[in-house]
Amino acid sequence: MKKYLFYFLVGSQNLYGEETLRQVNKNAEIMVKGFNSSPVIPCTVLFKPCLKTSAEVYAAVEQANNDPNCAGVICWMHTFSPSKMWIARLSALNKPYLHVDTQFNRDIPWDSIDMDFMNLNQSAHGDREHGYIAARLGLKRKVIAGHWQNEEFNREIGSWMRAAVGAVESKRLKIMRISDNMREVAVTEGDKIEAQIKLGWQVDHYGIGDLVETLNEVTEEETDRKMDEYRSYYTMDTDNIEAVRYQAKVQVAIKKMMDKGGYGAFHTNFEDLHGLKQLPGLASQDLSRLGYGFAAEGDWKTAGLSRTMKLMAGGLNGGTAFMEDYTYHFEPGNEMILGAHMLEVCPCLAAEKPKIQVHPLGIGGKEPPARAVFEAKTGKAIVVSLVDMGNRLRMIVNKIECVKQPKAMPKLPVAGVLWKPEPNLKTSAEAWILAGGAHHSVLSFDISAEQMADFAEMTGIEFILIDEKTEIPAFRRELFYNDVARKLMD
Ligand code: MN
Repeated sequence: MKKYLFYFLVGSQNLYGEETLRQVNKNAEIMVKGFNSSPVIPCTVLFKPCLKTSAEVYAAVEQANNDPNCAGVICWMHTFSPSKMWIARLSALNKPYLHVDTQFNRDIPWDSIDMDFMNLNQSAHGDREHGYIAARLGLKRKVIAGHWQNEEFNREIGSWMRAAVGAVESKRLKIMRISDNMREVAVTEGDKIEAQIKLGWQVDHYGIGDLVETLNEVTEEETDRKMDEYRSYYTMDTDNIEAVRYQAKVQVAIKKMMDKGGYGAFHTNFEDLHGLKQLPGLASQDLSRLGYGFAAEGDWKTAGLSRTMKLMAGGLNGGTAFMEDYTYHFEPGNEMILGAHMLEVCPCLAAEKPKIQVHPLGIGGKEPPARAVFEAKTGKAIVVSLVDMGNRLRMIVNKIECVKQPKAMPKLPVAGVLWKPEPNLKTSAEAWILAGGAHHSVLSFDISAEQMADFAEMTGIEFILIDEKTEIPAFRRELFYNDVARKLMD
C-alpha cells in the first residue's frame, strides 16, 4: 500500500511574510513524518511546500492529477488561504479529495499566546474558508476533523485512503469475461458503458473457445509447477490427481489470458463449458486467493467489485471474496444465512488449511470438478452487492457477523460461510430484497461499510446501507427519496 501517494496540500498566502511561511512548511513536514510513521496509515503522505497563489495551486493539482502513483490529495489550511485561488484547479481535480481540519499545536498555550501565534495557527479560520468553496463547487470530498497526533484521527485518514485506492484502481481495472451472463438471469446483467463511465471498468468478452485454445497450449511443466503450489498451500484430500491436474491447467490458461490482456478480474459461466472437462472450481478459487477478482455465472459486476475490494484491503489478512447467499437457517432467535457457491469460494476466508477434494456436481453435466473445501473465519464483516437500476448503479452494503458452524455438514463438500446479518435476518433480508440486492456479493472482513460509502461517493454511484439501525419504514422512504433525487438529477 505504501506505493500509493497522497499529496499533502497545505494552503496559505503571501500576506503572512516569509518567516511565518517557513514555519508553516516546517510544521507540515513534521506532520507528514508523523502520518508516515503511523501504523494505522497504510499509504504514503507526500509533503509539498505550502501553496500561496492560484498558480501554485494549479501546478500542485495538475501534478496530482497526472501522477499515476497519486491516489488522492489531502488539503489542510495551516493559515488562511483565500479560496478563490483554489477554484480553477480544485474543480478540475480528478483524484479523491480529503480535507483535514486539524492544527499543529494541540492545546492553546495560555501563558504565551499572542497575535503572532494566532496568525500562524489559523486552521479554525482557514479550513472554514476552504470548506465553503468545496461546498459551493459541489465537490465530492471527505472532511475529517481532529488533532493530527490523535490515533482515531489517523485511523480515519487511513481508512479513507483505502477507499481512495479503490477508486483510483477501479479507474484502470479491466475485466475479462469468459462467455456471457447466464441465460434469463437479470441481476447479473448491467450497462457496461455506465460501469466504465462511473467506475472506469473496461469489460471485455472472450469466448469459451479462447480459453480452450489457451488451455491446449499449457505444458506439463507448467501444470507440475501449479500442482507443487497446490500441495504447499492445500491438503490434497483426494486420489483423483488427474482431476486436480485439470484444474491446475485451467488456472494456468486463465492466468495467461489475464496477464496478456492486463486483466484484474474474470468470470466464468457454467452454462457455457464447451470443450472443458470440468467447471473451473479450484482454478477460480486459487486465482481469487492470488488477488484476482472473480465471480461466477457471467457476473462481471461482482468480479470487478471483488478485485477492487481486494486491492482496497491490500496488506490486511481478514479476507475479501466473492460470495452467494445460499440457504437460510430460520431457528427462532438464532437465524442465519449460509453463504457458499457451487465451488468457488476464495480460500482467503478459510479458518483452517483448505482441503482439495473431487466430487460430482449436480448441475452442468461435466466431470466431477476439484475444489478447495473449508470452514470459514468468524467475526464482523460486510457483504456488498452492486446492481444496475437502469438509470444508475446502486451499491448495497449489509453489516454481518460471521459465526462458527455449529455442526459438521459431511454431505456438503463446498466451502461455506455462516453469518447473522444486522439488524436481524428478517429486516436484513426484507431491506436487501426491497433495494434489489443480488444473490451475489463480495464478503469482506477487512473493509468497512464506511469505506464502501466513501468509495461510492468518489465514483458517483448510489449507496444503500443495512445495519443495526435499519428499520423498514425509514428504509423504504430512503429508497423512494433516492429515486426522486435521481429523477431530479437526470
Ligand atoms: Mn451464483
